[in-house]
Amino acid sequence: MDRRLPAGQGFRAVLRAHHDTGVHRRGQQLRTRDRRRHRCLRRHLGAGPGRGRRSADRSPGAGRAGLRQPLAAETLDHRVTGTAQVVVIGGGQAGLAAGYCLRRAGLDFVILDAQAQPGGAWSHGWDSLRLFSPARHSLLPGWPMPPYPGPGYPTAGHVVEYLAAYEKRYALPIRRAETVTAVSHDGTRFAVSTDTGKWSAEAVVSATGTWWRPFLPLMPGGFTGRRLHTVDYRGPEEFAGQDVVVVGGGNSGAQIAADLAGVANLTWVTRRPPRYLPDHIDGKALFDVATRRRQALETGQADTAGVAGLGDIVAVPSVREARDAGLLRRREMFARLDSDGPVWTDGTRRHADAVIWCTGFRPSLGHLAPLRLRTTRGRIPTEGTRAVAEPRLHLLGYGDWTGPASATIIGVGMTARAAVDDLEAGGGRRAIL
Ligand SMILES: Cc1cc2nc3c(=O)[nH]c(=O)nc-3n(C[C@H](O)[C@H](O)[C@H](O)COP(=O)(O)OP(=O)(O)OC[C@H]3O[C@@H](n4cnc5c(N)ncnc54)[C@H](O)[C@@H]3O)c2cc1C
Repeated sequence: MDRRLPAGQGFRAVLRAHHDTGVHRRGQQLRTRDRRRHRCLRRHLGAGPGRGRRSADRSPGAGRAGLRQPLAAETLDHRVTGTAQVVVIGGGQAGLAAGYCLRRAGLDFVILDAQAQPGGAWSHGWDSLRLFSPARHSLLPGWPMPPYPGPGYPTAGHVVEYLAAYEKRYALPIRRAETVTAVSHDGTRFAVSTDTGKWSAEAVVSATGTWWRPFLPLMPGGFTGRRLHTVDYRGPEEFAGQDVVVVGGGNSGAQIAADLAGVANLTWVTRRPPRYLPDHIDGKALFDVATRRRQALETGQADTAGVAGLGDIVAVPSVREARDAGLLRRREMFARLDSDGPVWTDGTRRHADAVIWCTGFRPSLGHLAPLRLRTTRGRIPTEGTRAVAEPRLHLLGYGDWTGPASATIIGVGMTARAAVDDLEAGGGRRAIL
């Protein structure tokens, strides 16, 4: 089967066709429906490539000597068996990168994803959300993201289209609307329980992201206005003319503050003065910095401090414009929130109709609880991507603790490849081959 897009139908053509046929509109409807589903998922959980090669090789099974050949298509029909060598949990960019590498290695696997449609967290961001780098620097292994046809960096919608086309291109075996509820031991295998059944696996790759576990600090005081998190923000329109407090000095906080500036009466609150990266630094440069740091640490050289040493906020065009127009004035963190709004230590106060907490996320790992792995600050100790106490479990995405830039589009390919190499090599127990 030819898994490539039909000849002459680049990504733009596919996009155009989507718009022409109304598929795009249906996509929007799905987005709305999926937001509802996503809330349910959050309730459930919440409580919890080296850069991709630009070679002409488009088939993940081709081109590597010494590995097993890909399995026949019928062997990949997991509806029948419910067993696999590897179960990948999560079908966002990290799960897809894992799928590509597993297919290339010829391993038998299935990807289980809680959502009804592709895109991972990218289908839930706010309307103006854009990548912090151009498409050419946002690539999964095997196939770079097609250029964004509009001005500026790609939109979240473009990323969703890319991920959807990517999984189609490589015919990745993804089962959608199947939420993993628990991973436990079953003799020498893993039992992967879902809301619709059970899978038996020799190894598990967990790639469930963080979007589903928003973090909000506890702030007593009986605030009566709206309390939102980054994940709830859609766009500035609903806040027009309102008094809005945005809390957080990271990328989400800066971008949402820039989005609201000039529309709402904005108060932007950050714990420390905002640290903008130099304007020319984008996602590609961040990846290079993270890679240099890893290489330095691996070769016993001094810690280069990595990305953290540069600053926190990528000056994407919207942020740059708002900042340069003087619209992003920051206030220090308030001491408390009373019923009407924030109160600062010097006694000043401000009315707020809404407070938007852009205070980050935690790894979404609730499904791994039955394995009783020790966690530190919500993270499972890892060596590379492999769980220290569970060599057949790999964690992908989430953050730098699963490998440099593993939680970015450009970086996850390298860590996915490392995880699959480790599984092939036996991951401590020669479990797979
Ligand atoms: C606001 C924001 C902006 C960002 N901007 C950039 C950027 O510009 N460039 C960049 O490279 N990175 C960016 N990132 C970081 C990163 O690329 C994204 O967070 C990305 O979505 C992470 O992909 P993922 O596959 O790890 O997780 P997700 O996209 O969250 O995918 C996880 C998948 O797992 C599924 N899932 C979750 N739990 C279960 C379960 N129990 N069972 C089954 N399925 C489950 C979910 O449905 C989802 O589809 C940004 C992140 C945020 C939050």
